[in-house]
Amino acid sequence: MLYLKTSSLHRIMISISRNLQSVRARIADAARKYGRDPAGIALLAASKTWSAERIADAARAGQKIFGENYVGEGVPKIAQLAPEGLEWHFIGPLQSNKTRPVAENFAWAHSIDRLKIAERLSAQRSEALAPLQVCLQINTSGEASKSGVPPSEALALARLVVALPRLVLRGLMSIPEPEDDFLRQRAGFARLRELFDALKKEGIDLDTLSMGMSHDLEAAIAEGSTLVRVGTAIFGEREKK
Ligand SMILES: *Cc1c(COP(=O)(O)O)cnc(C)c1O
Repeated sequence: MLYLKTSSLHRIMISISRNLQSVRARIADAARKYGRDPAGIALLAASKTWSAERIADAARAGQKIFGENYVGEGVPKIAQLAPEGLEWHFIGPLQSNKTRPVAENFAWAHSIDRLKIAERLSAQRSEALAPLQVCLQINTSGEASKSGVPPSEALALARLVVALPRLVLRGLMSIPEPEDDFLRQRAGFARLRELFDALKKEGIDLDTLSMGMSHDLEAAIAEGSTLVRVGTAIFGEREKK
């Protein structure tokens, strides 16, 4: 029995390693196709719902950047995996009563969508840590229900965030509605890239476009993504809550 268990765990580890190889190959192929340097496209493994053991498997296969969506789930995994020397990004919805664990445990936060959250993160970021690297989450699809700042308010928010002492504004992030058509995927990412270019023209120093997931990373890379956030294509389908 023990042998069977070990061997099935071994199989999972091999499949995570294979999946990572194929995701890296997709990134490299898309980079080649759209004239990008693959070294300019980081891969974040979105590890929500997956155990510390599965994350350690991915780490053993060379993956170093991981993203978590919920502090209650992410912080214990970060503690458990501390010896692995991984880089942790917070990519989930940010609530003002949950900013402290984000400020204390993560290197990055991608989902800044209002000043109050940014101010709290800056105030709560310890001097013992490097400044928190942040992205503004932009609502490029325009539905009232979606989180993220409307594009029209991004420049004003960016100027205020840049002034906060313990944050470094790195770029923009979006989570578009799922879309199967490549050209429509691309059009959504183009809206984020155009806003990124517009903010840079206004003097905001940005280097990160956090866009693209398992089903649309090629379209995101075509439009200039510098960081794709991939869960399913690395770890497999998540169980529905
Ligand atoms: C879960 C998640 C991802 C990864 O999604 P997949 O479709 O599983 O690749 C990326 N970004 C965010 C913000 C997520 O919550």
